[in-house]
Amino acid sequence: MQRYFIPTEQFGQHSVVLAGDDAYHIQRVMRAEPGTKLICSNGIDREAVVAITHMTKQTVEAEIVEELPMEAEPSVHVWIAQSLPKADKMELVIQKGTEIGAARFIPFTSERTVVQYDHKKEIKRLERWRKIAKEAAEQAHRNRIPELSSPSSWKELLRLGSQVDLALLCYEKQHTLSFRALLEQALAGEKGGEPYTILIAIGPEGGFTPAEAAEAEQAGYRPVSLGRRILRTETAAMVALSAIMYAAGEMGGGN
Ligand code: SAH
Repeated sequence: MQRYFIPTEQFGQHSVVLAGDDAYHIQRVMRAEPGTKLICSNGIDREAVVAITHMTKQTVEAEIVEELPMEAEPSVHVWIAQSLPKADKMELVIQKGTEIGAARFIPFTSERTVVQYDHKKEIKRLERWRKIAKEAAEQAHRNRIPELSSPSSWKELLRLGSQVDLALLCYEKQHTLSFRALLEQALAGEKGGEPYTILIAIGPEGGFTPAEAAEAEQAGYRPVSLGRRILRTETAAMVALSAIMYAAGEMGGGN
């Protein structure tokens, strides 16, 4: 069954309305008929099986057939802070990070970030990233679409470290701290129902400078190794995120 995230204001008590690209996709790509069933989510607190009742050129109306439980979201909220990589690697990070379970993406610039940050293209680029996150979340049957913010500066990223329970700096020049021990210790702690939030910061193709690593540590980030192999920038986030999902018991067994 095709899934769509729709704005919460289009999610009524007994029916939903789909519009824009979603309405186009349903009518022109899926060639759906009245009665066709879909799954809609408002990306916050409701997800339901709906059956199409009425279609116009711009909209598709559907009645709610069955409210669904929202169990696809990880218990731990992982924010992926990615130093802007070259070309369209950021789109790969967003797509794969969404599939694996990231809650938020924070692009940022650091000393060795090569990509020139172009304000003019910024809006279009952010729209494209958000579309990728939405489509990846629909495909992954997630209940929420990860948040995507505009690129932050290095100083802003350092400050974000104090907004999370655990801030990690993936640093390939540091192998003493055990990522596993760190996660086990961190995730063992109870937060009384509040989700645990972890931020993982990934450097650009050229990596973080030693000064940046020191500055981040000063700001409360823990430098962690992802192993003795040097990963490409676009690989690192997926590896770190998968390790956190594993450590948080998000891979089956319901624990
Ligand atoms: N400076 C590296 C390349 C950086 S890789 C080189 O010598 O070629 C890009 C980013 O991925 C790094 O900044 C780091 O955040 C992450 N990364 C890659 N491999 C890693 C590893 N083994 N441990 C921790 N982080 C790693």
